[in-house]
Amino acid sequence: MRTDFAIVGAGPAGMAAAEAAADYGVHVTLIDEQPTPGGQFLRQPPVGWKVAGWLDGAAYRDGKRLLGRVSADRRPEWIMQTSVAGIFVAEEGSNDDGRFTLLLEAGGDGGTRRLEAGAVLIAAGCFDLPVVFPGWNLPGVMATGGIQAFVKSQQFVPGKRFLFAGSHPLQLVVADQILAAGGSVAGVLFSQSRRRALELLKHPAVVLRASDKLAETAALLRRLSKAGVPVRFGQTVLQANGENKLESVTTVPVGPDGRFDRAAVEDIDCDRLGVCFGFLSSSELARQAGVACRWEPSRGGWIAEHDDTMASSVAGIYVAGETTGVAGSDVAALEGRIAGLAAAVELGRLDAERARSLMRNPRRRLRQSNRFAGLLAALSWPGHTLFDQLMTDEATLCKCEEVKVDTLRHHLEQNPGMTTASAVKLLSRVGMGLCQGRYCHFALTRLMAGHLGIAEDGIGGFTARFPAKPLAIDSLIRSED
Ligand SMILES: Cc1cc2nc3c(=O)[nH]c(=O)nc-3n(C[C@H](O)[C@H](O)[C@H](O)COP(=O)(O)OP(=O)(O)OC[C@H]3O[C@@H](n4cnc5c(N)ncnc54)[C@H](O)[C@@H]3O)c2cc1C
Repeated sequence: MRTDFAIVGAGPAGMAAAEAAADYGVHVTLIDEQPTPGGQFLRQPPVGWKVAGWLDGAAYRDGKRLLGRVSADRRPEWIMQTSVAGIFVAEEGSNDDGRFTLLLEAGGDGGTRRLEAGAVLIAAGCFDLPVVFPGWNLPGVMATGGIQAFVKSQQFVPGKRFLFAGSHPLQLVVADQILAAGGSVAGVLFSQSRRRALELLKHPAVVLRASDKLAETAALLRRLSKAGVPVRFGQTVLQANGENKLESVTTVPVGPDGRFDRAAVEDIDCDRLGVCFGFLSSSELARQAGVACRWEPSRGGWIAEHDDTMASSVAGIYVAGETTGVAGSDVAALEGRIAGLAAAVELGRLDAERARSLMRNPRRRLRQSNRFAGLLAALSWPGHTLFDQLMTDEATLCKCEEVKVDTLRHHLEQNPGMTTASAVKLLSRVGMGLCQGRYCHFALTRLMAGHLGIAEDGIGGFTARFPAKPLAIDSLIRSED
């Protein structure tokens, strides 16, 4: 198979890029693991389902318009329910058709196949930041985004009584969606103080431009208050309790310095805990392809670097959306549009001067949206003190390989020369499981930085290798090549 422009991820960023590039005659192929496009923001009902009032509301209007246009567009080729497990840059002088070879794995019995491309966009999105605390591995403790995936796409309420704990405003959105779908919410806890949250208002110029988002948040708070759902600031989860499943959550007050007041703990009964302290960028494919990434914990951990055309450090590979830092769907779509135009220039379908003029408006809007996103990220970030206190010795750090925090502390004490995440992985198996380090690398980085007294980016990520997503050996064996 061959295409001009391969786009990994059919979320807002990938769809906007596809539309922009196709407008200039670029042959675009969109690949996504999900059966339908839309990404996390516009997660669609399962194929064949109809969900009444799916994503009603002003927040989703622009995204749904983009989804409607791109879904109806006959120009892009769609390869759905398929993971991109690796991106390989063709060696100079090789006989490959394209500059890049993508290895695709279709779910089920689909096996693997190769896609040759002249240019690639990685728009792989993000996932919920996993936070380690005692009991986080109990059934019933979920990522808030994971809970939302059920409600958003199926109106299915995956539990009876929900508590949300974290520092990110998505908690309010999901609590509201749970109530609307008929669920019960015991409370929403924000670790930051109310005063800290209100610091947003100290930036009137930025806030004014995002007044629609603030109005939505105010409406959410009113609905939660009317339903009797307590929204508390300066409180967080200390541990999740239960025999084989979640029965209650112990909460603790958090001071302005991020320290816990353990004298004032409280137990709240619930069978679901949603945790939301932010998101991590899905940059594993970018890192596997050799794209330069930098560490910015409050924006998504390892985020892909790019220039003002969204070109990455690898010529011909573009990056957009949450892969470049978590900043919301507006930013994702604008970055996608710019990347699509830039790829059209690189592929010889669009004049560079014309592209510059076409990029002017999205770039201006991007600057505005980024200012708000940056402020929100800073105010939503709970800080290291909170993570360090939650990560007690008895907590499991790596769920896949069942490695506890105290085991890792012991390894670090016994091996003072072991200073990289990859070295700890070899010794302890942390990060070797099915999640490929997605659930544990952040906590390990934090644990090591605290223990060694060095900056987190000095720890490095786990070495990024093919396959970037779990791949059945059987699929490789049955592949044609
Ligand atoms: C669980 C969750 C819920 C969220 N809910 C909201 C919300 O309600 N409101 C909001 O404003 N923001 C929400 N966000 C943030 C949201 O992700 C972004 O604002 C927006 O969706 C970003 O668009 P994107 O195109 O960058 O990524 P996404 O929309 O995440 O799209 C990325 C796509 O890439 C695909 N993909 C990733 N890796 C591969 C691979 N190797 N091979 C093939 N396909 C791949 C994924 O399946 C996905 O469809 C949520 C994030 C998460 C993680």
